[in-house]
Amino acid sequence: MNDSCLFCRIVRGEIPAKIVHRDEHVVAFRDIDPKAPTHILVIPTEHVASLDEAQDATQVGRLMLAAAEIARSEGITGGYRTVVNTGAGAGQTVFHIHLHLLGGRKLTWPPG
Ligand code: AMP
Ligand code: ZN
Repeated sequence: MNDSCLFCRIVRGEIPAKIVHRDEHVVAFRDIDPKAPTHILVIPTEHVASLDEAQDATQVGRLMLAAAEIARSEGITGGYRTVVNTGAGAGQTVFHIHLHLLGGRKLTWPPG
């Protein structure tokens, strides 16, 4: 846990969020500024700043499998995208690793 981390504070319930999934290892909540009809952030309950700092394969893998489960429970049809922005140059603004789950519209490729 990191006292000053926004997403750690969401895990602890100190900052409100629209939580769609919670278990011992993973929390998922709706992005406050959605880029698609479904835009959910999937995070580990334990603080890790970015993918570049991640060392636990099980922890990282859980994010992917939780995203797939949530995509099913959200009823996303026609595909979805999972994205991890790593580092400021890639657009990472919150330094607690998170997987974006985007769906509910046609997603173009490549992303910007
Ligand atoms: P990134 O730019 O990849 O680090 O993604 C951070 C995401 O967190 C952005 O899509 C923001 O809209 C989202 N975000 C920031 N603050 C909150 C919050 N309090 N609740 C939910 N999502 C947030
Ligand atoms: Zn954190």
